[in-house]
Amino acid sequence: MTEAIESIKALATGLATTFKHLFRKPITEEYPEYKRTLPERTRARIILTCDPDGKERCVACYLCSAVCPVSCISMQSAAKEDGRRYATWFRINFARCIYCGLCEEACPTSAIQLTPLFETCERDILKLVYEKEDLLVDHGGKDKEYCFYKYAGIATDVGGKGEHNRENKPVNVKSNLP
Ligand code: SF4
Ligand code: SF4
Repeated sequence: MTEAIESIKALATGLATTFKHLFRKPITEEYPEYKRTLPERTRARIILTCDPDGKERCVACYLCSAVCPVSCISMQSAAKEDGRRYATWFRINFARCIYCGLCEEACPTSAIQLTPLFETCERDILKLVYEKEDLLVDHGGKDKEYCFYKYAGIATDVGGKGEHNRENKPVNVKSNLP
């Protein structure tokens, strides 16, 4: 008898829930007519950002490439006369990318960033291979003020050794010799 009462109660609860939702206004979001604003930290299309001076942030250190679990980032490094390193070419195969965000986590210069732009589908799979010119943007993305060379301790056009933010003058390593 108790079991029968329990079953009827469960049935009534279920039906009550069904009736409650029958008369609710639908909340279906009709994509693509309606596009929800996604959070800034959404992991989708990748960009290569610039520092506040408008110069490329990427120093072609290969860290993003090394950490990528599906090996979809490749590049070739080079250095300018002023000491700044850069990638002569930089390629991401979005057909392989799983948008894990590890490349962004690993990047020491805040160059590579994932954005909320997710509408990148293509019928031709080769169009999902993005070159540097497709990835490079003229702003700092989520990290607008950061400039790697102002903290790196490397002598470049941004400053000599000891002239960067929160940096002491270099010590003379021979100064304490007898
Ligand atoms: S988001 Fe993940 S899979 Fe995509 S390029 Fe970065 S590390 Fe590789
Ligand atoms: S995007 Fe960042 S991690 Fe990748 S090579 Fe450039 S500086 Fe290094």
